[in-house]
Amino acid sequence: MDIDITTSRASCHCGAVRFSVTLTDGLRTARRCNCSYCRMRGAVAVSAQLDGIVVEQGEDMLSVYQFNTGSAKHYFCSKCGIYTFHQRRSNPGQYGVNVACLEGISPFDFAEVPVLDGVNHPADGVPSAGPAGFLRYVPA
Ligand SMILES: [Zn+2]
Repeated sequence: MDIDITTSRASCHCGAVRFSVTLTDGLRTARRCNCSYCRMRGAVAVSAQLDGIVVEQGEDMLSVYQFNTGSAKHYFCSKCGIYTFHQRRSNPGQYGVNVACLEGISPFDFAEVPVLDGVNHPADGVPSAGPAGFLRYVPA
């Protein structure tokens, strides 16, 4: 696994949705989130700017899920159900991208992935749990 990859091809499980990704900082931005939705979804996400994702096929197959404040937009393939990317609430100028959708990348390639304390979301104005609530990232 090359942690410094800048671009990648990506797709959902069934292949209906295909997109290309330009990452903000390779795979170094990999993280999980413990909010009510992410802890069910279980995906590891990496960061891309809004213009860093180009959907090349199957845009009409994407469904969007919004909850709570509705500010984050979680996209998934309506055929196979796989989460592809989401427009962030913490930074609406960014997408989180499902690292497992990137060609040749598996979330199991990471030794450890930091956890964003999404329960105490910064946008809620509630103090976060602090560093103790986060895992440290250890490069593979
Ligand atoms: Zn699919």
